[in-house]
Amino acid sequence: MRECVHCDVQFNPNSSAKKRVGGKINECPDCVEELGTETAVKYLGLQAGDGKTAGISIVAFESDDDRQAYSKAWKAVTGFHKGKSCHLSGSQTTIGSRPMRHVAYNAGNSNHKGKA
Ligand SMILES: [Zn+2]
Repeated sequence: MRECVHCDVQFNPNSSAKKRVGGKINECPDCVEELGTETAVKYLGLQAGDGKTAGISIVAFESDDDRQAYSKAWKAVTGFHKGKSCHLSGSQTTIGSRPMRHVAYNAGNSNHKGKA
């Protein structure tokens, strides 16, 4: 247990509430939410099914709004949870022009048959 620097309440730094809201190790989850001390935007992991290996991108955004909008658009245009039927639709969700940077990228060899 730790004592919160803001309200002197004892809290569990390993609780799910604390993990969800983030903040510093010496701030209780309530204060993090109330004071808005957590400013980091969580990374977003994206998965693509190229060849027989899943390609994984980890991208960083400047705000939670951007992160959520991108995640939503990504799922819409890549057919997450709905197979390839999304590509038959006449409209496509706009995915571009949000401030972001790539943190990491890993993909399989697309030449998965081993041919030269
Ligand atoms: Zn507190």
